[in-house]
Amino acid sequence: MQNYINELNKLKENSSFRTIKNIKEKFSKYIIVDDKKMLNLSSNDYLNLSTDKDLVLEFVDKYKNKNEFILSSASARLLTGNSSEYKRLENNFSSLSSKDASLLFNTGYQCNQGVISALISKGDCIFCDKLNHASIISGLKLSQGDHFRYRHLDYDNLEKQLSEKRKNYKNALIVSESVFSMDGDIADIKKLVELKKKYNCLLMLDEAHAFGVFGDNLFGVAQENNLLDEIDIITITLGKSLASMGAICVSNRVIIDYLINKASTFIFSTALPSINIMWSNFLLEEKFKLLKEKKEKLNSLFKEVHKIYPTISSSQIIPVIIGDSLKTKNTALFMQDRGYYVLPINPPTVPLNTSRLRLSLTSDITKDEMKDFFEKLKNYAL
Ligand code: PLP
Repeated sequence: MQNYINELNKLKENSSFRTIKNIKEKFSKYIIVDDKKMLNLSSNDYLNLSTDKDLVLEFVDKYKNKNEFILSSASARLLTGNSSEYKRLENNFSSLSSKDASLLFNTGYQCNQGVISALISKGDCIFCDKLNHASIISGLKLSQGDHFRYRHLDYDNLEKQLSEKRKNYKNALIVSESVFSMDGDIADIKKLVELKKKYNCLLMLDEAHAFGVFGDNLFGVAQENNLLDEIDIITITLGKSLASMGAICVSNRVIIDYLINKASTFIFSTALPSINIMWSNFLLEEKFKLLKEKKEKLNSLFKEVHKIYPTISSSQIIPVIIGDSLKTKNTALFMQDRGYYVLPINPPTVPLNTSRLRLSLTSDITKDEMKDFFEKLKNYAL
């Protein structure tokens, strides 16, 4: 036990010890933590849908008498956990992206982990951006293949690795987030497509933070750049903009059939409750116009905020990099005292000496609220 205690003490000394917050309530853009109401600048509910009580009640009223309005699937999809709602959800995502086929996983974490570890076997390899999400890293560690990590958004570095290593392997996968979760910067999808073609690789994009924020059909950065056809595999969590639960992988029929047969996180896990799937379908089928309006509002907001606070970000995620972990923690507490719920993000979640406040904007926040936020922050930390 002592080794664990020592390790925890080290985290405490580095101001990196994590605790679960006492959240009392969330509504729209606000959050109540320890009885204090604050503007929530740490939410992934980018379109502010998850706490919209009117929307939830409309959904419940309409669907409560349906057979699928139940809270457990009690089984994996391949056994008895399936129902028509799941197929409908997968069809919805296939049509939004104009891709052949989709597969629902229980979480984005399981989706990335399952897809990568299934597609990459012994004799294959993965090229991975160094700042990709933990679920992607977990997938490549689980896979039996070799992996190479290129410097964040450095496509010369990626090409160097591709030209040296690709020829030694059978299948190769390039994997990147589109909007990066800690910096809000965006991958150069055109360049990635060029490289995947030149070196005969599959290209996988995680659009977790881009779905609902970019693209005509809300489908993300690849769609915004008219490059959806060129991407082999896209993964999207439904727990952020779609205010639901689960994750979708869209691809071609062969890859999806392969995943159904080989992805252990899909095969061996109880399916999500169908009530959740119905909620996702309700939002996509009946509230799409509202989602699009909220997406436009969020885009206007983050473009205005980039003018107030110049940043490396090109999206709704804005890092305020402070560097030192203790100073970052104190800055977060200072801003919480003034009514803004911001959280410190420390290593190992981000690289050493880049501790930061990670702001994530949501559609109901206003430009004036963010102006006030930066005025207050300037006096303390900038
Ligand atoms: N991918 C990225 C880029 C993420 O930021 C996250 C979650 O934070 C995930 C995947 C995992 O998604 P989920 O929360 O549905 O497991």
